[in-house]
Amino acid sequence: MPGRQANDSRLTRLFAGLSVTFQTTLYRMLRCFSILAFLAISGSALQSAEKQPNIVFIFTDDHCEQALSAYDDSRITTPNMDRIANAGMRFTKCYVTNAICGPSRAVIQTGKHSHLNGFIRNGNTFDGDQQTFPKLLRKAGYQTAVIGKWHLKSTPQGFDYFDVLKGQGPYYNPPMLYGGIKSKATLRKHTGYTTDIIKDKALAWLKNERDREKPFMLMFQHKAPHRNWQPGPEYLTWLDDTTIPEPDTLYDDYSNRASPASNQAMEIKTHVNPSDLKLTAPKNLTTEQKQLWDAAYKPKNEAFLAKKDSMSEKEIIQWKYQRYVKDYLRCVKSVDDAIGEVLDYLKAEGLAENTLVMYSSDQGWYLGEHGWFDKRWMYEESLKTPLLASWPGVIKPGSVNHDIVSNLDFAETFLDAAGVEIPSDMQGKSLVPIFTGNTPDDWRQSFYYHYYEFPGGHNVARHYGVTNGKQKLIHYYQLDEWELFDLEKDPDELNSVYGNAEYRKIQTAMKEELHRLRKLYEVPVDDTPLPKPGEQKKRKNKV
Ligand code: CA
Repeated sequence: MPGRQANDSRLTRLFAGLSVTFQTTLYRMLRCFSILAFLAISGSALQSAEKQPNIVFIFTDDHCEQALSAYDDSRITTPNMDRIANAGMRFTKCYVTNAICGPSRAVIQTGKHSHLNGFIRNGNTFDGDQQTFPKLLRKAGYQTAVIGKWHLKSTPQGFDYFDVLKGQGPYYNPPMLYGGIKSKATLRKHTGYTTDIIKDKALAWLKNERDREKPFMLMFQHKAPHRNWQPGPEYLTWLDDTTIPEPDTLYDDYSNRASPASNQAMEIKTHVNPSDLKLTAPKNLTTEQKQLWDAAYKPKNEAFLAKKDSMSEKEIIQWKYQRYVKDYLRCVKSVDDAIGEVLDYLKAEGLAENTLVMYSSDQGWYLGEHGWFDKRWMYEESLKTPLLASWPGVIKPGSVNHDIVSNLDFAETFLDAAGVEIPSDMQGKSLVPIFTGNTPDDWRQSFYYHYYEFPGGHNVARHYGVTNGKQKLIHYYQLDEWELFDLEKDPDELNSVYGNAEYRKIQTAMKEELHRLRKLYEVPVDDTPLPKPGEQKKRKNKV
């Protein structure tokens, strides 16, 4: 029914302050009314709620829950990200459909799985001619902007304004592609730390560029904390005197699982390189930046190199872990500062009251769990991504949600929040009812995942799988190897129980669910042959 989504969103905001039971009853009753009946009932209250909310989508690259203090404060505090959680909702089960950068972004643009939006692995080019949520918001009167990391190769479409990194983009002194509906795309050079530059551009757009008569949707998207974790000038020596706790699985031996876990190339022990470890300096720094960099890293590196030959293998892993994780956390800290400035601006301008702020990352990440850095796997650390959302008057401050939600739902959520009808070919669901504490009865109980990038970086085998949050079934289909995990008994996923007689019933049920989801999402059979011997080399870096 046209207009129904708009009607639902207005209801949502109007009743957010009421008790959950009363709110649920009222919400369900009033969904049955037409817009006209609703207008007559709510009168002047609707006029203020009718205003379409602004949307600020804050997005990072490779940021995991283990480095966000609203989830886990054992390594870092992120007070500004936590502001979003405290003012709104923290989701504990936000799963990505394909844990890798470009594909996650394409899922968010389209609300469709990788096999339908066509961007299945990094290196693909996004077909920007297809339906995307920014285009639909523009049609509905929104002003749209994307600032920062884009990583979809093709020039952004559907944005009044874009100012984006070329590809991955460097941590310092990035060239950025500027353009939009009215401007021809132009590459511009910048000097400074990329996180700060993206923040300055977002603030400049909010202050000077946007049309204040229209609602806006801003995608504020960081490169950080992507590999190779180069900290900003302010944080180069932060944490120098701290020891970061090690995860329990740092020395995982990959036993009791299918063969891919032991055949990857993403171990801190073996696969981080001298540039990752800052034993070599970045090559594109200005003289001033280089001086600060060397002052921070040279003494630390000299101390390490002087004792390296006398260190045990375990001590070297520990040193690498500390170096890697600290640099990662330093990058997160700059992003947190940047978010604080944008939130301050929204508050100071009186915009915060009518703005949906969502924070997320393109997927999770291994901060040493299983001995790894990187992502890709359907294992918990990379399958899960942080999701925080605040929307005054709609989301109850400090709430926590445990439903299975996904980056597949973001496009639908933005459209629903704006009162725009969700196209029937989108595959996710709006989170707006969940925001109000009214999870629909038919909300998903299981989730489909598919990773495709093999052969590819880090040598992670193609796999698909299903999880219901309690059990997880994974199929490495080119090898026809399976894993089944009992997440309640084995949350670290160290022992596959696939083929275990005790789990036969669960295994059968999970296979049936996997089949059902593949059919539901129209997943084609993947018959890509395995690479020939020698095509896929295991890379080792000497440090
Ligand atoms: Ca990423």
